[in-house]
Amino acid sequence: MDTPERRQVRDLVYATFASEGRAPSPEEVARKTHTTRDQAQDALHALADAHALVPAADGDAIRMAHPFSAAPMGFVVTPHDGHDDRRWWGGCAWDSFGISAALHLDVRIDTACPHCGAHLSYHAGPDTPPPAGLAVRFPKPAAQWWDDVVATCTAIRTFCDRDHAEQWTNQHAPDSGYIADAVTVWRLAQPWYGDRLDPDFTPHTRDHNQALLDEVGLTGPFWNLPL
Ligand SMILES: [Zn+2]
Ligand SMILES: [Zn+2]
Repeated sequence: MDTPERRQVRDLVYATFASEGRAPSPEEVARKTHTTRDQAQDALHALADAHALVPAADGDAIRMAHPFSAAPMGFVVTPHDGHDDRRWWGGCAWDSFGISAALHLDVRIDTACPHCGAHLSYHAGPDTPPPAGLAVRFPKPAAQWWDDVVATCTAIRTFCDRDHAEQWTNQHAPDSGYIADAVTVWRLAQPWYGDRLDPDFTPHTRDHNQALLDEVGLTGPFWNLPL
């Protein structure tokens, strides 16, 4: 259940990630929401239970609040125009597009192809798809994403192209995962993450998100979200 206190904490976490690219500490949350450290921690735990954020392994600090990450995960996201020095860690290929969608900002995304190690640097924005040809591999079915969501995000990577994603899969994880066009993932990220920073954001229902997957053609058992 969302309470005004949890909402306030959630909004503070997202505002801090958006403006500074980092997560507030529990002490900072308590200070800025005028609550005790215990109350702030309770709110953070409740938000984690609702998958509104992801605690660090030790359960104290904030590790992720999708699409934002508090630690490097293979993607660096910077404003495309270079006029300011903000930067964000993209949790995965999908989250990197999500940061652009949530901020309504054109960005440059830097990563490396897991197969050949090539540096990939591409532009994307709310109205600008990434270059055609790039491929994104999802490691496991949607029903398993939150079993270990940090591991899931860590493994959702951008490859030079479909061929490199297939070669990597054959060598490291045969007959597993799903390879999508990066443009499809970019299209998915817009409605999935575009409202994350809106003042009146309400968490999407499972059916809402399933419809978003359907709309971009990600259908079938691999994409069935857990009930
Ligand atoms: Zn490659
Ligand atoms: Zn992710």
